[in-house]
Amino acid sequence: MKQLTIFILRTLTYLNISALLLSFSLSAQAAVVLQYHHIDTNTPFSTSTDPALFKQHIEYLVNNGFNVVSLPALIEGLNNQEVNHDKSVAITFDDGFISIYTHAYPTLKAHNLPFTIFVNTDPIQAKRPTHLSWDHLREMKQHGATIANHTHRHSYLINPDGLTSVKNEINSHQNSNDVSESNWKSAFIEEIETTQKLLKTELNQDIKLFAYPYGEFDQQTNTLLAEMGYIGFGQHSGAIRAGMDMQSLPRYPASNQYGKFPLFATKLNTIAFDETTHFTPNYGVIDESSENPPSLYISGSEALLNSINCFGSSVGALPKVKINNTTLMITPEQPFTSRRFRYNCTAKSHETGHFRWVSIPWVNLGVDAK
Ligand SMILES: [Zn+2]
Repeated sequence: MKQLTIFILRTLTYLNISALLLSFSLSAQAAVVLQYHHIDTNTPFSTSTDPALFKQHIEYLVNNGFNVVSLPALIEGLNNQEVNHDKSVAITFDDGFISIYTHAYPTLKAHNLPFTIFVNTDPIQAKRPTHLSWDHLREMKQHGATIANHTHRHSYLINPDGLTSVKNEINSHQNSNDVSESNWKSAFIEEIETTQKLLKTELNQDIKLFAYPYGEFDQQTNTLLAEMGYIGFGQHSGAIRAGMDMQSLPRYPASNQYGKFPLFATKLNTIAFDETTHFTPNYGVIDESSENPPSLYISGSEALLNSINCFGSSVGALPKVKINNTTLMITPEQPFTSRRFRYNCTAKSHETGHFRWVSIPWVNLGVDAK
């Protein structure tokens, strides 16, 4: 109960601050980033997009007035607080699989569309036939591709020891585990810098865009990533606007399962929730001793809260509890058993008729990564 009161007080404080910020900020327009892995029918279904479906996606973008922009251009717009065009879309691929070259690139090149490939460089260095080569990447870079950082070894980056040491400090005044903390930090930096150096040597490119392997991040990773000067992307869905946390930007997974029409078209047309709506937390890490399922608090106008609906990974609609006129609590009925799960919240915008869409990603460190 005490925890609940603290949460409510916190969200009320956010509300006052957000009212102040609103008077200085630009009106929120949206951009959307798509995330693909394999474009193939012979690779795992859940991380693949059928080449025919990929073609449909591209044709839909081209024929419906979408503005397909490069990721660096989109980020520049966000950094300059420029209002992005409605219908700005950036296309991204993770892991650098060979099918990007064989099945996606011909279509993208034919339409002269920019795209970004987040590569983990270890398999490229090992010349694995499942992955793109430096020659492939150089060729695609000549035709609209940005090649960006996805670590060298595709590692899990959240530091479980770091989380434990923070807890110990609070609970029993133990010293935090400095050794493991600094080991984690140097491993994190090395994973990213190894790849960045290779991108510079092989492609003469030094753009600081990063995608978290498995979409797993926490406050510690985001802080370090920001200190290193990188923009970070996860794998949780939702539209992007200026003023968001630049180290945990969302992307819509566009695999077979999530890329189906008509819902895919709805996602492309989504806008972000504006600065007056707050999701607390906006991402979360839990472990065996944390509350599972975790609660999400949403604060905003009464009208917006009435129109908002949240859905949990593979469980559907989540129950809403009204704490007061401007605060909602979302608490699923059952604990989640997977390592990663999401709460997706949507609301129809009165101004545009489009859906606002945000996703809260959770990582349960109590569930083994592998
Ligand atoms: Zn990946």
